[in-house]
Amino acid sequence: MKSVEENLKEINSQICDSCNKSQFDTTPQVIVVTKYVTIDRAIEAYEAGLKNFGENRIEGFLEKKKHLPDDAVMHFIGSLQTRKVKEVINEIDYLHALDRLKLAKEIDKRADHVIKCFIQVNVSGEESKHGISPEELIPFIEEFKTFKHIEVVGLMTMAPLTEDKTKLRQYFNQLRNLKDKVQSLNLSYAPCTELSMGMSNDFNEAILEGASYVRIGTKLVGE
Ligand SMILES: *Cc1c(COP(=O)(O)O)cnc(C)c1O
Repeated sequence: MKSVEENLKEINSQICDSCNKSQFDTTPQVIVVTKYVTIDRAIEAYEAGLKNFGENRIEGFLEKKKHLPDDAVMHFIGSLQTRKVKEVINEIDYLHALDRLKLAKEIDKRADHVIKCFIQVNVSGEESKHGISPEELIPFIEEFKTFKHIEVVGLMTMAPLTEDKTKLRQYFNQLRNLKDKVQSLNLSYAPCTELSMGMSNDFNEAILEGASYVRIGTKLVGE
């Protein structure tokens, strides 16, 4: 198995190429997704210089958070069950998959500070994917007006598994357009400046469309 440092070097050089080709001047932050790997491997990633960590299950999230240094930024990237919110919400730095009003209400109720959230959008319309449909997005966000503990920092999506780079760019482009639309509403509770998009197989396409956070597991730390 290659070291995280070696993998990171390769990924960073690809990110650099894509940033140079991109018309946007955003350099994305890398979230290392450690859901498949051990605590030791996560610590290796921290020592290689990665500071943003992503987990999609509560148990793994709390476990990694406990063992990583305090300055690790912890991203919850999975779908969160409403009844589990109280166990974990105040441990999360960024929540990436807010997609239901019921969940938002529970977060607002249980959080003891403002939680930075991404709204997950299902741009491909695949039934198997979580997320709000593009048409529902703005009315959904407008429901957050009275919440005290949610800040919509941006949008997140998962593209379908495909090798078709043109298609991938279209999905990411769609998310960017939606982000711009929300941003232009100038809502105090939804600055919506960030785009969480791109994984091991499609981060280059996401960067070409302006990703500000890429979420990479397999190609950085392994499966
Ligand atoms: C697992 C996961 C990733 C990382 O996937 P890789 O293909 O291993 O890079 C990114 N985002 C989410 C939401 C995930 O669940």
